[in-house]
Amino acid sequence: METVQHYVNGKKIDGRSGRFAPVFNPATGEQPRQVALAAASEVDQAVSAAREALPGWANTPPLRRARVMFKFNELLNQHRKELAEIITDEHGKTLPDADGEITRGLEVVEFACGIPQLLKGEFTENVGTMVDSYSTRQPLGVCAGITPFNFPAMVPMWMFPIAIACGNTFILKPSERDPSAALFLADMLSQAGLPPGVFNVVHGDKEAVDAILTHPGIASVSFVGSTPIAEYIYTTGTANHKRVQALGGAKNHMVVMPDADLDQATDALMGAGYGSAGQRCMAISVAVAVGDETADSLVGKLVPRIQALKVGPGTDSDNDMGPLVTKDALQRVSNYIDVGREEGAELVVDGRGLSLQGYENGYYIGGSLFDRVKSDMRIYKEEIFGPVLSVVRANDYDEALGLVNDHEYGNGTAIFTRDGDAARDFSARAQIGMVGVNVPIPVPVAYHSFGGWKRSLFGDIHMHGPEGVRFFTKLKTVTARWPTGIRGGAEFVMPTMK
Ligand code: NAD
Repeated sequence: METVQHYVNGKKIDGRSGRFAPVFNPATGEQPRQVALAAASEVDQAVSAAREALPGWANTPPLRRARVMFKFNELLNQHRKELAEIITDEHGKTLPDADGEITRGLEVVEFACGIPQLLKGEFTENVGTMVDSYSTRQPLGVCAGITPFNFPAMVPMWMFPIAIACGNTFILKPSERDPSAALFLADMLSQAGLPPGVFNVVHGDKEAVDAILTHPGIASVSFVGSTPIAEYIYTTGTANHKRVQALGGAKNHMVVMPDADLDQATDALMGAGYGSAGQRCMAISVAVAVGDETADSLVGKLVPRIQALKVGPGTDSDNDMGPLVTKDALQRVSNYIDVGREEGAELVVDGRGLSLQGYENGYYIGGSLFDRVKSDMRIYKEEIFGPVLSVVRANDYDEALGLVNDHEYGNGTAIFTRDGDAARDFSARAQIGMVGVNVPIPVPVAYHSFGGWKRSLFGDIHMHGPEGVRFFTKLKTVTARWPTGIRGGAEFVMPTMK
């Protein structure tokens, strides 16, 4: 059986720990390969390589670092079909969806190509007589990224292009469920001319993650994944003196006002609720319909569309939804549907029990819809991470906004309305990091920054865009006076402008 290797110092290397995890094709349930799980000593080897590469790379002029990013962008564009196939093979999402994730990742690479401009500091002449002051942003050192299964190419590309462009070296610990995309990216970076050791991939589970979090040679950790692990990463990483940004789970609400264009809202809910089988951190999992009339019409429009969803292998681009990522995920999502029924929600469409000819062992589930979901139910409070949409009925706008604000997660939200006043109030008062107005998945473009509030993000700095540059650099301010022959004598009071 094929084994997915680590990538350290520009070379693929076998795992030495003797531990492996199976990697499945979720469309068929077959296990074509396994992935090596690193021990602490293997993480240490990657840190040594990254530390050795650091001085040379940090001293490489930003323009030259940008040229590597330009080349990487070009190569990845040329080979994007191969990468999409790798993603679909291990994650299960449809090929067009995989291609979309590559595009969103490449947009961050395009942003990182502008690093000479982004790293321009500030200069003030004559802060005191004959004294000048300037601020620069310098690299942090060895940065680590720990990423989830649901975007095996895009989420790593939220991190490493900016980290590397800023002059850092990087260690990526991808999800062990779909590890191959990371090696493809490593290969493209190497072909683009990135020196060995600047980008490394270490596969693994908690053992490798703990080694990263406690390693004194690592300066920062960027994490994306579920909330309990994000919180653990943040507390452990910061206790070990690292800069940490840890993005967690979500329960994104879309508020549908009585004046909304309901056909547009239905289209939006179909894509945002069921695209990628609901396995997106910005998926809409709760539709808050304001007023019973709105709810009845919305549910009436959604039901036939959900029943008509085409579910099947991601390699068939005509399908709307592929399988879930693992058998466990299928079990978990199916259980939540039982839980919702037991709690008294109305199961309007049940997607379970789907069997596809020729793909009987794949992890498929159809779209499901609950109506009359209440805020004390587990299916409302917890992240299901599958194609299950809950409709909550709110009496008025204030109640809808209250639901959004009282939820423990604060990743994304949206309002569908024709009323500018309601939209403006919602944008201002929603306690959520990313807000959409008639836009269901308001993922910020690469030159803005991505991040949630509340228990969807631990740390202060969002990902990519200007916040990404801030995260991957430290600020230095220099105050300089050159000898002029004028002597003023020693000063013992706080320096001020006289
Ligand atoms: P996960 O938390 O299970 O895994 C994420 C990473 O953490 C993986 O690399 C995994 O190996 C590692 N990990 C898992 N268990 C660990 C443990 N006990 N100790 C240390 N490390 C551990 O998440 P997932 O299932 O791969 O991804 C889905 C989750 O990610 C969802 O909750 C989703 O909302 C979230 N997500 C959030 C965002 C965002 O931007 N906020 C984006 C994508 C995904």
